Amino acid sequence: MDKLRVSLLGATGIVGQKMVRLLSSHPFIELTKVSASPSKIGKRYIEAVKWIEGYEMPDAVKDLRIVSTEPEDHKDVDVVLSALPNELAEGIELKMVREGITVISNASPFRMDPEVPLINPEVNWEHLRLLETQRQKRGWKGLLVKNPNCTAAIMSMPLKPLLKYHLDNMILTTLQSVSGAGYNGLGFMSITNNIIPFIKGEEEKIPKESGKMLGTLIGDSIKNVEFRAAVTSTRVPVKVGHTGVMYLFFNSPVDAEEVKRELSSFKSLPQERNLPTAPKTPIRVLEGEDRPQPELDVRAEGGMAISVGRIRNENGGLRMVVLGDNLVRGAAGITILTLEVMKELGYI
Ligand code: NAP
Repeated sequence: MDKLRVSLLGATGIVGQKMVRLLSSHPFIELTKVSASPSKIGKRYIEAVKWIEGYEMPDAVKDLRIVSTEPEDHKDVDVVLSALPNELAEGIELKMVREGITVISNASPFRMDPEVPLINPEVNWEHLRLLETQRQKRGWKGLLVKNPNCTAAIMSMPLKPLLKYHLDNMILTTLQSVSGAGYNGLGFMSITNNIIPFIKGEEEKIPKESGKMLGTLIGDSIKNVEFRAAVTSTRVPVKVGHTGVMYLFFNSPVDAEEVKRELSSFKSLPQERNLPTAPKTPIRVLEGEDRPQPELDVRAEGGMAISVGRIRNENGGLRMVVLGDNLVRGAAGITILTLEVMKELGYI
């Protein structure tokens, strides 16, 4: 089988490096182009990157030359994966899509656009059908697919199997790791021995993006799920892994033991089709009273499974602690899984 050829924007960043490693052993996707900031164009990847991924740099990428973000440098690939900074992504990605390139992106612009699917594969692979509307209404020659904010990707997973109870109110406090701010995002002095009780934009993005992902595609548009939410986002001195302390109130009675069964048996199209990046058990339910912990649980199923513990009923609501790998489930892995689903369903 011919492999899908992909190029990667932001290939030297923290998410980009994770994608480089995950793609290096992929059965049907081949990374053929890498891009970074303009001053690095023409350099070999090994010279352009400060490799922090922790494993050996894959041989196949070492000698790839850094190319620009201009569409002509990416015309000969099947798909462009983007891990560009949010502030640069809009213009660069739009130019590519207008010129006929299919882009799957981690960056925030267009995530809430009604004609752009925002995909967390297990939660809403069906929303890819929105691409037909995008084609008709936008007149773009290529396709644009977005992946959610890392915390929304993690927190929306346990909400999906619980939708049938009709969520009314979510009180969520997040404890987000330092890697979520990118490689140069936070200085050692600002986070060591510290907790920062605010992350710009996060508190709004998590319920908004979750509401879209959990929504239903009716005709040519998504009807978002509406629920009340009070979110407090904090940055904690953890390297990788975002934790969320959730307190959920539903319109119908919810029993914690039943919730454990619903979560642990949850499966979706990526599992049914046995896609290479799909975790076998997307939601791990942990019984230990001191779990989940980033150090022990974040790498479950290569970082693609989320872990949920301390599930209990209290004062008419449901309480639980949710943990996921922000760089894999929240970014690099979800992008690759989205591409696998798109190929499986014939969008590529
Ligand atoms: P990062 O570590 O700061 O990496 C940014 C990447 O963009 C680097 O490869 C950088 O190249 C490249 N870049 C910077 N300026 C550029 C320019 N003018 N032209 C072309 N490329 C340029 O950021 P990150 O954490 O990997 O995040 C990347 C994206 O993923 C962001 O949109 C972020 O919101 C999203 N995301 C991140 C996470 C996470 O947990 N970190 C999770 C979900 C989504 P140089 O090395 O040359 O500077």
